[in-house]
Amino acid sequence: MKITPYGAAGGEVTGSAYLVETDSASVLIDCGLFQGGKDAAARNRAPLGCKVAELDAVVLTHGHLDHTGRLPLLAKAGYSGPVYATPATIEMTGLILRDSAKIQSQDIERQNRKRERAGESPLEPLYSLAEAEQVLLQLQPATLEESFDVAPGIRARMIEAGHMLGSASIELAVREGGRERLVAFSGDLGPTNAPILKHAETFPKADAVFLETTYGDRDHRPFRETAIEFFEIIKQAVAAGGKILVPTFAVGRAQLLTMLLAYAFRKGLVKPIPVFLDSPMAIEAWKIYERHVELFDDEMLQFIHDGSVRKDLATMKPSVTAEDSKKINDIIGSCLVMAGSGMCTAGRILHHFKQNLWKPETHVIIVGYQAYGSLGRRLVEGEKMVKIFGEQIAVKAHIHTLGGFSAHAGQTDLLKWFEPLAGGRPLVVLTHGEDGPRRELAKQIQQRHGLKPLLPGLREVIEV
Ligand code: ZN
Repeated sequence: MKITPYGAAGGEVTGSAYLVETDSASVLIDCGLFQGGKDAAARNRAPLGCKVAELDAVVLTHGHLDHTGRLPLLAKAGYSGPVYATPATIEMTGLILRDSAKIQSQDIERQNRKRERAGESPLEPLYSLAEAEQVLLQLQPATLEESFDVAPGIRARMIEAGHMLGSASIELAVREGGRERLVAFSGDLGPTNAPILKHAETFPKADAVFLETTYGDRDHRPFRETAIEFFEIIKQAVAAGGKILVPTFAVGRAQLLTMLLAYAFRKGLVKPIPVFLDSPMAIEAWKIYERHVELFDDEMLQFIHDGSVRKDLATMKPSVTAEDSKKINDIIGSCLVMAGSGMCTAGRILHHFKQNLWKPETHVIIVGYQAYGSLGRRLVEGEKMVKIFGEQIAVKAHIHTLGGFSAHAGQTDLLKWFEPLAGGRPLVVLTHGEDGPRRELAKQIQQRHGLKPLLPGLREVIEV
């Protein structure tokens, strides 16, 4: 068989998509959007590269946009077959693709107003909400641990990946020329020490392994230490009477922080303060979490069983409308605000920054990856003056960076995941990582197991 990465290869982390081709079938694993970088928009607009008419099925590892964001384009190009995913991933994909379509149409409207003034012809959005809805109808549920037919000669099985609600690693059993070969795709793997979700499982054997390498070169700070620091910052801010602003990704990180606050309030580690979940998408994502408690780990289930999380979070208010969000400005004294976007490039967090960044009693807590060039990155790097909505704002707030809340496995966890597979001496293919982390993980695998991983470029065909 031939396997070709159509994204998240050649030293990048977005645009995940692998095409698996045999004599009799062709299956796509993920179909993600390219994000960040100047040419992302053009690359997303370019044809996917595979023959859509020959595609038998798509299988998704999880709902994040960089793994699902080009699905509507596939449907637009004529694909009408099944897209298999876990039930929670189906719900997450719905939430994320609808949001993506809305953001794109807003962006395009803004760009087109400029283009019109410049006498240029208008652009079309990458896909419309209706086109996103169309592909959502093609999603079909697959149960974790159960194998199912996806295409002639190809069966799939998914196991927990511990990265986001519904996330899975995928094993394909491919029958060709009278023999069966097993191919494992890690998808994005979660860290083993984070709460809420079950930890990543691994497959017992494989002939080929496609492993993510986002943090292939390092480990995160332990979760416990990070949580303690988070609580300390809140106490400092409360003592100074300042607001605590947390730019947060709406799916995953927002839920993790909310549960941590529930824990801290219940255990008396932090006195309850007003908390605002100022993100309609994070509120929607919460509802999906509540429908899938079967994916929670034992500790989380025990925590829910031992007391009422709603009671713990009695001081938390969801801010659904823009009016709700504006009212947060009127709060006197300390409160904690979680708002998007996660990298401070857009969204409600910018309004809160404009109102509070210039106050020395404000604390900003950065809990996620901040891409080069984003406002979040500039704050992390200590810029003293930033432009928000065209206005210069002095940065007098305390800026804290907490690296231990990552949703990705660090190097030790990646190696541990791979360990049981190493004995079978599989072909190892490292993807979904920048060049430094990818090369470092390759070195580790070579030293420990004597295997020489492939580090493919984009569209580089791999024979298995
Ligand atoms: Zn992901």
